[in-house]
Amino acid sequence: MTTPGLLINGSWHQGAQSALHTVRSPYSGDPLGEIVLATNADVDKALDIACEGAKTWRNTPAHQRTAILLAAAAIADERSEALAQTISSEMGKSIREARGEASRAGEIIRLSAFEGSQRYGDSLPLDANLGTGFDKIGFTIAQPVGVVVAITPFNYPSLLVLHKVGPALAAGNAVILKPALAAPLTAIALVQCFLDAGLPAGVIGLVNGSGSELGGQLVSDPRVNKVSFTGSTPVGENITRIAGIKRLSLELGASSPVIVTRHADLEQAAHSISLGGYVNAGQVCIAAQRIIVEESIHDDFLAALIPKVEAITIGDPLKDDTMVGTLVTENEAIRVESAIEKAVADGAVLITGGQRNGTLISPAIVGNVSGDHAFAQEELFGPAVSITQAKDLDHAFALANSTRYGLGAGIFTQDHDESIRAMREIDSGVVHINWTPLWRADLMPYGGIKSSGIGKEGVRTTVNEMTEWKTVIMHSRV
Ligand code: NAD
Repeated sequence: MTTPGLLINGSWHQGAQSALHTVRSPYSGDPLGEIVLATNADVDKALDIACEGAKTWRNTPAHQRTAILLAAAAIADERSEALAQTISSEMGKSIREARGEASRAGEIIRLSAFEGSQRYGDSLPLDANLGTGFDKIGFTIAQPVGVVVAITPFNYPSLLVLHKVGPALAAGNAVILKPALAAPLTAIALVQCFLDAGLPAGVIGLVNGSGSELGGQLVSDPRVNKVSFTGSTPVGENITRIAGIKRLSLELGASSPVIVTRHADLEQAAHSISLGGYVNAGQVCIAAQRIIVEESIHDDFLAALIPKVEAITIGDPLKDDTMVGTLVTENEAIRVESAIEKAVADGAVLITGGQRNGTLISPAIVGNVSGDHAFAQEELFGPAVSITQAKDLDHAFALANSTRYGLGAGIFTQDHDESIRAMREIDSGVVHINWTPLWRADLMPYGGIKSSGIGKEGVRTTVNEMTEWKTVIMHSRV
């Protein structure tokens, strides 16, 4: 069964010499489909076509763009269950989580369509500027940036594709999507929704293939006006070196802290962490990875957390009663298993879980982790949380801020003053009070600081970052 994978100028391509890639279930290893891989020449062609597509779409009135996006959203709604099955099958998240992700597809496109219709400019009060009178009128107008390249990771193959493609199209840009090779079938299904909604040929392109080969070519090409990348920090760093002068948005890795103070509701904290540390087998950039607990409540907190984590069911992602599915590959599962073993060898305590069976790992709690150990400092991207004890709140904030990352953070406290300090003192793009960082509304600004990224996503923010605000000044003759 060959599935298309290369979309250029509105049609799916497969040449006699095309290389194919077999997509397999990470749970069973069964083949799910074969996709066409793009060559460097295909990418070059896709870029040429995207430049033409950008002209077509830029000259399409916003109300027509909105109508096509709304039609695509309705199609995505109709195909939600099929999309969920595809997500779960190809990257291993449980079907219940995949259904949650798929149900947001239509909504993200609708939010994008709305924001694309709301790009009001500014009128400039030029006469307030010394030396300028009433002889000039100034204002800003919204224009598309041109060609957007969207590069996405495997872990939320629908959500993260649509957080780029929806706003890019809503703002009037052409977009070339390069999804992760571990989850291309979801991307193909989503692109088909836009084509079936009547998106003109050339406005969207899809290329599948190796990130280092195709990604590097796309990122460095001068025909590209904006790169929107979500993925790991090392790849993001590489993109900053090769992109040249163009707009960049980078949503990168993290090791997110969660502080539990002596004023916390421990049941609420334990419940939230038993979700936030393990959803999607911990393969979430905003997973609750580092749990920083005040010493005085450490034992009570663990007593509340352990049974909740041990109640998480793992197994066949497509079964309705599976809560948490697989890691994306066996190599990834081995990497996570080794990281847990290394932490324990260096003095940490495996409190529960951490057993690997193929691509499955039982949800783990690793206690007594030193805040400066790699297990806390580096992104784990697996189903385990680390527990580190803090002497007091100042110490907890210092530990929270001690990594090179700053994407999401959480604090559990019923003390108002502690909450206010946390909002101001935790170095992070998003701070949650009484929840873990693993929570996101699609319309909220979302993105990291430090090595977690540059720029913000969230539909309104992304539409704005994919818009050129041109300043226009009209001069009278006197
Ligand atoms: P990855 O960095 O390996 O790959 C991401 C994408 O980049 C893929 O499409 C890949 O093919 C492509 N790529 C690889 N090398 C490239 C190169 N040299 N140039 C251009 N593109 C290249 O990441 P992954 O393993 O798919 O996803 C996990 C990572 O993504 C984690 O670090 C996670 O924290 C991060 N992530 C961040 C966010 C966020 O919002 N900050 C969200 C999800 C995932």
